[in-house]
Amino acid sequence: MKVYHGNKSIPGEAVSIGSSSSFVNPFVVGRDAETQAEVIQMFSEWAKTQPRFVEIVIEELRGRDLFCDCTASICHGQTLMDIANGKRIHVKRGPKRK
Ligand SMILES: [Zn+2]
Repeated sequence: MKVYHGNKSIPGEAVSIGSSSSFVNPFVVGRDAETQAEVIQMFSEWAKTQPRFVEIVIEELRGRDLFCDCTASICHGQTLMDIANGKRIHVKRGPKRK
């Protein structure tokens, strides 16, 4: 599994996790938090409270490549891969902002 981003060449069988999909990150930089790392963390925290969502992710994304239309180098796609692979979701706590 891997996450493709933006305008890189995307294999036809990859599953969309971007803005037009049901796997989109509901948390948005600029609205819900200031940084990409924060919205990824919020997504991870949220997913822990969504057992049905986790089931769907495992059913539909396990073993698949994903693509996301965001322009960030990392995003919730990594979290989705962890969920799909049955990993415990690891929430990174970054250093406190000054
Ligand atoms: Zn993305």
